[in-house]
Amino acid sequence: TVRTRFAPSPTGYLHVGGARTALFSYLFARKHGGQFVLRIEDTDLERSTAESVNAILEGMTWLGLDYDEGPFYQTQRFERYNAVIDELLAKGLAYRCVCSKDRLEKLREDQMAQRLKPRYDGHCRGHEVDPNEPHVIRFKNPADGVVVVDDMIRGRIVFANAELDDLVIRRSDGAPTYNLSVVVDDSDMGITHVIRGDDHINNTPRQINILRALGHEPPRYAHVPMILGDDGARLSKRHGAVSVIAYRDQGYLPEALLNYLVRLGWSHGDQELFSVEEMINLFEIGDVNKAASAFNTDKLDWLNQQYLHHADPARIARLLSPHMGRLDIDPASGPDLVEVVKAQAARAKTLTELAEISAFFYRDFETFDEASAKKHLRLVAREGLERLRAAFELMAYEDWTLEGLKHVVEGVAEELGTNMGKVAQPLRVAIVGRAASPGIDETLRLVGKDATLRRIDKALA
Ligand code: GLU
Repeated sequence: TVRTRFAPSPTGYLHVGGARTALFSYLFARKHGGQFVLRIEDTDLERSTAESVNAILEGMTWLGLDYDEGPFYQTQRFERYNAVIDELLAKGLAYRCVCSKDRLEKLREDQMAQRLKPRYDGHCRGHEVDPNEPHVIRFKNPADGVVVVDDMIRGRIVFANAELDDLVIRRSDGAPTYNLSVVVDDSDMGITHVIRGDDHINNTPRQINILRALGHEPPRYAHVPMILGDDGARLSKRHGAVSVIAYRDQGYLPEALLNYLVRLGWSHGDQELFSVEEMINLFEIGDVNKAASAFNTDKLDWLNQQYLHHADPARIARLLSPHMGRLDIDPASGPDLVEVVKAQAARAKTLTELAEISAFFYRDFETFDEASAKKHLRLVAREGLERLRAAFELMAYEDWTLEGLKHVVEGVAEELGTNMGKVAQPLRVAIVGRAASPGIDETLRLVGKDATLRRIDKALA
C-alpha cells in the first residue's frame, strides 16, 4: 500500500512551502487509499525548538492535514540509527575516518584551486584506525556507475557516482547525520513515495546508495519546485506572511489556503475551486509544474472571499468573534453576529476585514469617510435626513423590521419627489460613515433604532 510522509525540521514555523509539500503528500496517500505519516526531523539539536514543533502541529491541525501515524521524532530513534551504522561498519560498507579538519580544509583548497568540485578523496578507506581516536563514520559510496532517479515530477535524472563522495553518516560527537536518519526512517516506516522540496534533489542519489547498501529498494521520489515571491526571489518573510498560522491570524480560512496551495503549480482545466474531496480525486502529482510558481496574494484573497461568502454563516461568526475582540468589540453587545455575517460576508476578503467593516454595527464610528461625506452629506441632503429622523423617531421598536424600515424610507423618498437611492445613500453615510454597506433596510435593522437616531444627529450637527 502507498505510504507517504511529511518530514519537517522544527527550526521555524510551518511555512506555505512546507504546507504545500505536506498537502501533496497527504493527497497522494488519500487518493491511493494509503497512509500519511508525520515525522519530525529534530536531529539538529541546536536549531530545533519545542515551539517550532508546536507551530508545525498546530498548522497541520488547522489545515486539517490529518496524519495516520506519528508524529515520530528522530531524536527518539538514535539507537536505531546507530545500530544501522554499526551494521554498515561490520559489513565493510562504511569506515572510520580520522582526517583532521586541517587536512580536509587543505584538500578543499587544492581542489578549488584546480577548479574541481570539492569532495572527500577517500583517504581513510581501507585504513585500520584506532576506534578510540576521535573520528567520523563515512559511507562507502560506489566509485562508479550511475544512480537513476525517475522523479514523478521532473522525470528521469541521472547522477554519476564519480560525482558523489563518501558521505559522513555519524559525526565525531556520535550523532547520526541527516541523510542516514532519513534513509533509515523511510525504510523502517515503509515509505513508498517520498514527496519533498527540490532543495533535497542532490541528497536523493546518496540516499538511494545507502538504501541499496542496506538491501532495500528505494521508494519513488517527487521533488516539488519551490515557491517564489512576486519579485521572483524565493518566498520569504520579506514578502509578507509565510507562516500558515500567520495566515490564520490574518483571517484566512483553511479551505481557502489549501485551495490556493493545490493550485500553485497544478491545475485541472480552468477549475478554480476545489473541495478537499475533489483535490483527492483530481490531483495528480505527475501534473505538477516543473518550474517554480510565484505566490500571488490577490489570488489567495479572491479564493478566501469566495469561501467566506459560501461558508456556513454560523461557523464564520464563530471564527469572526476573536477578530471583533481585537477591535475591542464584544459581539454580544449588539446584533446577532450570524446576521451580520449573512449581510456582510460577500464584501470582505478576510475575517480581519470583515470585522473592520462590521464594527459600525456595534459602536458609533469616529469619523466619516471624507469623500463619501463630501458627496452625500451636502446641504441638499439635510432635508431628507431630517425627515427620515422624524419618521424613525415615531416608529415603535416592534416595527423596526425590514418591512417597516423599507416602508418609511420609501415614504420619505416619495414625499420629496425623488428616488430611493437619493435618500438612502446620505442615510447610509450617516449611519455607517462610508458609502458601502449591506441594503439600507438591513443595515438600519441591525444597527437598531437608538444608534440610528444618534448617528443621524451627529451627521446633522
Ligand atoms: N527535514 C527535511 C526538511 O525539512 C525534509 C527531508 C525530507 O523530506 O526528506 O527540509
